[in-house]
Amino acid sequence: MQSISPETIFRGKDAWLGALPEIKKLTQRPLLLGRSLSTVNLRNNILRDLKNQNLNVDTATLQFDCCNEDISRVKNLILKNKHDSIIAVGGGKVLDSGKYIADCLNIPCITVPLSASTCAGWTALSNIYTKNGQFIKDVTLRSCPKVLVYDHKFIQTAPSRTLASGIADALAKWYESSITSSEVNDGLVQQAIQISRVLRDQLLIDGEKAFMGEVENNPSWSNTIEACGLTAGLIGGIGGERCRTAAAHAIHNAITQIITPNKFLHGEIVGVGILLQLRLEKMKNNNKLADQSIKQLLEIMRKLNLPTTIAELGINVFENQNLNKIAEFSCRENSDIHFLPFEITKQDMVDVISNFEQQKIRV
Ligand SMILES: [Zn+2]
Repeated sequence: MQSISPETIFRGKDAWLGALPEIKKLTQRPLLLGRSLSTVNLRNNILRDLKNQNLNVDTATLQFDCCNEDISRVKNLILKNKHDSIIAVGGGKVLDSGKYIADCLNIPCITVPLSASTCAGWTALSNIYTKNGQFIKDVTLRSCPKVLVYDHKFIQTAPSRTLASGIADALAKWYESSITSSEVNDGLVQQAIQISRVLRDQLLIDGEKAFMGEVENNPSWSNTIEACGLTAGLIGGIGGERCRTAAAHAIHNAITQIITPNKFLHGEIVGVGILLQLRLEKMKNNNKLADQSIKQLLEIMRKLNLPTTIAELGINVFENQNLNKIAEFSCRENSDIHFLPFEITKQDMVDVISNFEQQKIRV
């Protein structure tokens, strides 16, 4: 079974207002789930709108990432108060938590992304972390969210850093799916790869204009946020698991194992992962185009103010066995890195990362 997309999608400037009658049909006692202090006003407006629909709504706030501690606390709250749906309002971690809990309890989930930082509002997938933000596993859910509300006015309020992160995460779709799945003999998978190429081209054209320019009346901005939040989700939906991730995400997962004082966004780490994946392709698969791709990516990543080395993510790989830890985690059994069509060993990772970080330090 494959869940390709949310059952209903509302998109555009007044998507939230348009979605209210549909939400009212679905639920009487929703739980509104959020996290960040910076979105509290927006979430209060959403709460007020739901109350105006005569819904018996309550709120819950996540304390950490999408982690077992928060998940079991919110699950118990829902069971105790007999909530009949979750409305997850926020970034990727909030959306992932909402979807996961709703799936466990067999109630509908309504996702309302407040930034373009990931496609988590769309997908039937949740990433589970420790409360310190270390990746544990991803879980495939039975279905995509029941309703996705992609309200451009909400997304306008997010910091531009979240948009840059979303662009890096969406760019990864092409670099990961084209290497893992180009030999897969399945029309839908092949079409998903082609959509991810078009998505990459569009982001290379519009990404900077979206990041630097006005938000109002800027087609580059609306095209880019929808590319990151919707198209990237669609690719995962029709392409399935093998189309979703490879080395870039495996390296992301490994980098999150190192706890740092400043937290970086998912896409910011994935962006560095793409650069490292291309280095691996060059070294192990003789990919002659890898250098060209790296050059092209570095150009856009610098314009978007994205980190381009592990050092820029606040981690010195030459300290505290960090290099070893990252290499080991990215090559562990069941790691997505093994979706690559060539073998990667821990030593390959050590070589590629140390080379990559040293070169950058010299520059
Ligand atoms: Zn991702």
